[in-house]
Amino acid sequence: MRYSGLRIIKEALTGNKGWKPAWRDPEPQPAYDFVIIGGGGHGLATAYYLASTFGKKRIAVLEKGWIGGGNVGRNTTIIRSNYLLEGNGPFYEYALKLWEGLEQELNYNAMVSQRGILNLIHTDAQCTAFTRRGNAMILNGADAEMLGVEQIRARYPFLNFNDARFPIKGGLAQHRGGTVRHDAVAWGYARGADSLGVDIIQNCEVTGFRIENGVCKGVETSRGFIGAGKVASCVAGSSSRLMAKAGMRLPIESTVLQAFVTEGLKPVLPGVITFGAGHFYCSQSDKGGLVFGGDPDGYNTYAQRGNLPVVEGVMESGMALIPALGRARVLRMWGGLMDMSMDGSPIIDRTEIEGLYFNGGWCYGGFKATPASGMCYAHLLARDIPHEYATAYRFDRFRRGYMIDEKGVGAQPNLH
Ligand SMILES: Cc1cc2nc3c(=O)[nH]c(=O)nc-3n(C[C@H](O)[C@H](O)[C@H](O)COP(=O)(O)OP(=O)(O)OC[C@H]3O[C@@H](n4cnc5c(N)ncnc54)[C@H](O)[C@@H]3O)c2cc1C
Repeated sequence: MRYSGLRIIKEALTGNKGWKPAWRDPEPQPAYDFVIIGGGGHGLATAYYLASTFGKKRIAVLEKGWIGGGNVGRNTTIIRSNYLLEGNGPFYEYALKLWEGLEQELNYNAMVSQRGILNLIHTDAQCTAFTRRGNAMILNGADAEMLGVEQIRARYPFLNFNDARFPIKGGLAQHRGGTVRHDAVAWGYARGADSLGVDIIQNCEVTGFRIENGVCKGVETSRGFIGAGKVASCVAGSSSRLMAKAGMRLPIESTVLQAFVTEGLKPVLPGVITFGAGHFYCSQSDKGGLVFGGDPDGYNTYAQRGNLPVVEGVMESGMALIPALGRARVLRMWGGLMDMSMDGSPIIDRTEIEGLYFNGGWCYGGFKATPASGMCYAHLLARDIPHEYATAYRFDRFRRGYMIDEKGVGAQPNLH
């Protein structure tokens, strides 16, 4: 069923009786050509592109809970491609280009909103670093503009420009960055994949791998064994736990990251802003809530809820930048599980076990990558060679010492 304005009018006039479920609820088959573990954004996008772009059939997505229940439905919805390093810049710009055509391709309103992102600058050294980043972005085909204080004041008059401990000295803007309604991304890809014959199987936890003579033959699940030609792990924050069942120890640690949303306010924040002197980022949802976050909780855990000291730290950073934030009431907060890699960059690669593939290490930046991650992973699964934009995202970079260390903080996941 195609969605359209006419369809809405027709349904409104006929009692809304014609809507069908957006995807089926199939029973698992005994075997598939491709089994994707994890019904988050990346897993569903991978299934969709495997079927749509690479023409593959007999594909299943296995999700232990419900689709969209993981980080794809827990993040702060920011998309951007303001990266510095060669391995990252072109990949994230490719993702941004895919976002720009996604709703038309999926025939689904994911509320892609290119309202712009502004990284604020507070020191002279930061100004030099951000100018370099902006130049790298332009060389990678992305858009970037350095803004002066008066330009920022005109757009965001309520920021703390006077008497601030960290005075605002400018900002790096990417006008094509913005936000996307996160759970609509999961639903849109699920609907698209389902319409191409992909089985999306919820409440189906993978509990082990069947590996014979170094070849992965399928997965053990809470709903029985499912055979597979190729098995693709795509479980974000649960990556190290899942791959341990295949005997693999990953260069990944899991931590929790919290997000917050206030009561609905009149439109005050036209774009996404990030605070360069602390860790705070904020946007305003279409319902009016200010959506913001800050540092991860900084210790290893698989719990999807955070702790009060970090809440205090995030609020402090927020108030240093936007004093008026103290007048807003926080309605909700939640946590999600981050798969923190040792250089802050992701992995899309084959494993040493034939037929077993891996996608993970997205840290707290994997939402914006979703379309490109799905496309590159599907390419790897279909053709067994990395996609041109994901050649840097291999396991062996850690062995060879070719880290993609965007923040330059080394193997300290709590700082990435
Ligand atoms: C608070 C917060 C804010 C964030 N903000 C941003 C942001 O603004 N911009 C950005 O780019 N990124 C952001 N991120 C990061 C981003 O959300 C993640 O990197 C990305 O969503 C991870 O990929 P995913 O969508 O596939 O993960 P998930 O949605 O977590 O999908 C993984 C799925 O695997 C399932 N699973 C796990 N184990 C098994 C198993 N054994 N069997 C079957 N299924 C299993 C899980 O239930 C889950 O549904 C944020 C994350 C958090 C938590």
